[in-house]
Amino acid sequence: MADSWTPLRLISWTQEFFAKKSVDAPRLTAEVLLAHALSCDRVRLYLDFDKPLGDAELGRYRELVRRRAEGEPTAYLVGKREFYGRPFRVDARVLVPRPETELLVDAALSALPPDGRALDLCTGSGCVAVSLALGRPGARVVATDVSEDALALARENAAVLGAGVEFATGDLWAAVHGDERFDVIAGNPPYIPTNELAGLSREVRREPCIALDGGPDGLAILRRIVEGAAAHLRPGGTLCLEMHESHLEALPALCRKAGFAHAEARRDYAGLPRLTLATLAATKDPA
Ligand code: GLN
Repeated sequence: MADSWTPLRLISWTQEFFAKKSVDAPRLTAEVLLAHALSCDRVRLYLDFDKPLGDAELGRYRELVRRRAEGEPTAYLVGKREFYGRPFRVDARVLVPRPETELLVDAALSALPPDGRALDLCTGSGCVAVSLALGRPGARVVATDVSEDALALARENAAVLGAGVEFATGDLWAAVHGDERFDVIAGNPPYIPTNELAGLSREVRREPCIALDGGPDGLAILRRIVEGAAAHLRPGGTLCLEMHESHLEALPALCRKAGFAHAEARRDYAGLPRLTLATLAATKDPA
């Protein structure tokens, strides 16, 4: 059985194949897909590196490799992606959670008191809202999305991960009770300028356009969020928004114009402008 398909031979064959097809991280991707086809974890592959695969396993793996080489994101193929240390279910209904969005969670958590209230707009897979709820178990977390399909998956993630999140469907502020005020409003809305969409990788182009397209300057949704946010925040409350690198000046400026006392952009670990944090003035003590 010198040339039967063992994990080791499959991984090195696929690594080369993926490299030719310009798939990112070719070896890691091969391992992740093979582990998925065999319903095991990646370490197991190397414990059984010499054990030939059965026909059904091989068939499952070949199909995954074919779809990945055609540009389907790995996270959709395996149905999950790690975010903030937890596994989230993902599929073509939602944007794949990105590592840089963990910065949004960090910023929102630091501004959220243990028994505070947080709102996550454009929640998608629910990764931000669920991470906030699990990070502050005493807080109330509300999450909204315009896509009923996305919310179905977000609800599933909250249930599986044991997070208490209240979900509401609707277009931004239309989904939020007028009289509720939050300590923190977080959001990773669509913010890619429309003319950049065609130039995105084929993997990103498989993700829902509605989760990416931010209009001509990328600010169409961000602007609506900023304009409505002060009315839904408590005094001293914080708005944390993910943004496009080109919004470095524009988004903090929009926040100041909308009445925020303080607004600043933050960079991600790649050095790219990624977040804007804006704070309302706290009410002054009576003199
Ligand atoms: N960061 C994502 C990307 O670059 C975009 C996410 C968004 O538009 N909210 O693909």
